[in-house]
Amino acid sequence: MDHTFEKALSSEDLEKKIFDLRNLIEIGMSLSSTLEFENLVESILYSIIGQMFVDKVAIILQVDIDVNNFYVHMCKGYDDYFEKNDIILQENSPLIHYFESGESPRRVAELAQNPIFIAELDKFQPLDPELFVPMLSKEKINGLLVLGRKIHGTEFTDADIEFLTDLARFAAIAVENSRLYRMATIDRKTRLYVHHFFLERLEEEIKRSQRYGEPLSLIMCDIDHFKQFNDTYGHQQGDMLLKELGAILRKSIRKMDIAARFGGEEFSVVLPETKLPGANAVASRIRKQVEAYPFSGQKEPLHVTLSLGVAEYDKARDNCSDDFIKRADRALYAAKKSGRNRVAAYR
Ligand code: GH3
Ligand code: MG
Ligand code: MG
Repeated sequence: MDHTFEKALSSEDLEKKIFDLRNLIEIGMSLSSTLEFENLVESILYSIIGQMFVDKVAIILQVDIDVNNFYVHMCKGYDDYFEKNDIILQENSPLIHYFESGESPRRVAELAQNPIFIAELDKFQPLDPELFVPMLSKEKINGLLVLGRKIHGTEFTDADIEFLTDLARFAAIAVENSRLYRMATIDRKTRLYVHHFFLERLEEEIKRSQRYGEPLSLIMCDIDHFKQFNDTYGHQQGDMLLKELGAILRKSIRKMDIAARFGGEEFSVVLPETKLPGANAVASRIRKQVEAYPFSGQKEPLHVTLSLGVAEYDKARDNCSDDFIKRADRALYAAKKSGRNRVAAYR
């Protein structure tokens, strides 16, 4: 690592070195302050493009909490076609093993000399890779950076490799932190936020609404006759349905909205900057989507419906988050009472 210091550096080299270190510190700080996963990954890729002058860069990650395989998570500089194009590497693949045993960045040409990598390297062809940079955290590989060629057609220098090694170390720690954060805030079954995260965010949004007078709405929903569903199709099938329902909810909302698993088969959606009519529209859309959705079943698609209650935050009425939740819950109760598979608003 320190071999560059073995020979005396020219003042130009030293300046470049200081410049690189400064950049590295800045990148490191920005990475360690980003927990939001997609933003984090994107800034890793842009840092590399900006620093290395490469035309293409991709990141292979172990993203799924439950899955141990790696796949291309994000690319820059490729046609959209390659975005999320699965290149799957098994956790026990030779390439991962190799890098886990402490190997630093490697040129593809060098790896290609070894026959055990041929099959895996073939999978990477669409990415046109020049250099692999392993991301190592807690002695384990949690990602692989794949760099294309440098735009000036030059080779990666020793200084480049050194820089990338350090950057990958930051990136690996940041990705690991982000993974832990997601594990603590996201429900495994539904991939929606957990109850305590929902509460925390709701309280933040209430404060924001009080301060700036922005509207704020809340949807509470509950699956209709879910007990009967479980009794008919089994608990496991019920779990599968919860998973699919989570995906529907995630897709039905904006990025700023917060969808959470409130409890067993109850969900809540926080809608910042949204008045009652807007929240009603979102709730109706969710209701219709769920009603029409063919959930996977053993023999044939299965169907369920949702009841939804909607309320808009009212600082005169809601002394705390609990009051607000109770009003949305009361609307949900009204939706259930009036026949289920409907939306009711608290007025
Ligand atoms: P209602 O229309 O009044 O909501 O009827 P319901 O049968 O859905 O009644 P309720 O909401 O009280 O029932 C909740 C049921 O949801 C009971 C419980 O077995 C089931 N449930 C809760 N959490 C889970 C889960 O994680 N997996 C599965 N499979 N079922 C769950
Ligand atoms: Mg319930
Ligand atoms: Mg229910």
